[in-house]
Amino acid sequence: MSFRPPVRDDLAELPGYHSPQLDVEHRLNTNESPEPPPAGFQQAVVDRVAALDWHRYPDRGVTELRTKLAAHHAAAHPGITADNIFVANGSNEVLQTIMLAWGGPGRSILTFEPTYAMHGQIARVTGTGVVEVERQDAFTIDADHAIETLVAQKPIVTFLCSPNNPTGIVEPPALVERVLDTVSEFGLLVVDEAYAQFSDWTALDLSDEDKPLIVTRTFSKTWAMAAARLGYLIAPAWVIERLNTAILPYHLDAVSQAAGSAALDFEDEMNARVARMVEQRGTIQAGLADLGIEFWPSQSNFVLFRPPNSTGNEVWQQLVDRGVLVRNCASWPRLDGCLRITVGTGVENRAFLDALADIVA
Ligand SMILES: *Cc1c(COP(=O)(O)O)cnc(C)c1O
Repeated sequence: MSFRPPVRDDLAELPGYHSPQLDVEHRLNTNESPEPPPAGFQQAVVDRVAALDWHRYPDRGVTELRTKLAAHHAAAHPGITADNIFVANGSNEVLQTIMLAWGGPGRSILTFEPTYAMHGQIARVTGTGVVEVERQDAFTIDADHAIETLVAQKPIVTFLCSPNNPTGIVEPPALVERVLDTVSEFGLLVVDEAYAQFSDWTALDLSDEDKPLIVTRTFSKTWAMAAARLGYLIAPAWVIERLNTAILPYHLDAVSQAAGSAALDFEDEMNARVARMVEQRGTIQAGLADLGIEFWPSQSNFVLFRPPNSTGNEVWQQLVDRGVLVRNCASWPRLDGCLRITVGTGVENRAFLDALADIVA
């Protein structure tokens, strides 16, 4: 066999991030929107793509999309301008760019576990250390313990996820404010708000040019555009300047930029879709309560639950056998026996609840 150069020592040991897909009738495992974007969106993208200059590089500054995003957010948060916005290929690339700029050997980030696994994963891939702080039994954060640890560890980036994936819990404003005040002495606070539209408050309420706060968002969930790979962040202008140093030139292709700009003309439809998901979330939670199944009240488009008398794996398989795929978190650290269902259409959620009733009977 020919020589195969070894990768970096720290990468060799690192497991990848997996989200297995199966060919089943109801795919409720990756928190996508169960509904496609509105029909008018498809035509708007086609028209924009037809008018592209394919022989030219895309707008490196992503000007139109950033301007439209600023207008979208300025309605509720008037200080936000295009200078406060950075867009990339999914919020995962947004997070990676933060780590390219602020992470690296000799530096550490801090996470509150369990949370979105990619925060730690991206840090490790960029050679950054990871400090994991445990949540309390109900998956909430003990504020005093959090502040003590932050002061002792002084991580360059602290991650919060609100609503938190995979628990669905929103962090209280007072906690986020205390964490932000504390890290302001030595680092950045990233609040991953991939699911913010499903919850009742946003950390954007705390944003200010003088505070080291970064809020990340995605088009993959509420905007029903997971196929496009678009995410962005909102932060002080000095943060955006640093990110632009770390990112590759022309990183965001013209088609993605066009799709994002087109989507923002359909805000009312997006809000209506979110309202339907929130209503359906209520149906799922009521159904789980009726079955006497433990779950965590969610402010997101998914619900974490723990089937009784099971390692979780059997119930997951029995759901698959009935055509319903949910996320199997049963063997994830701190989530013994838990499964996570993404809110689907009314028909899909009914299929899930009927299958589950059948299984636990
Ligand atoms: C789904 C998800 C993302 C993902 O984003 P992309 O924009 O699709 O890369 C980021 N953060 C959290 C917490 C998520 O659940």
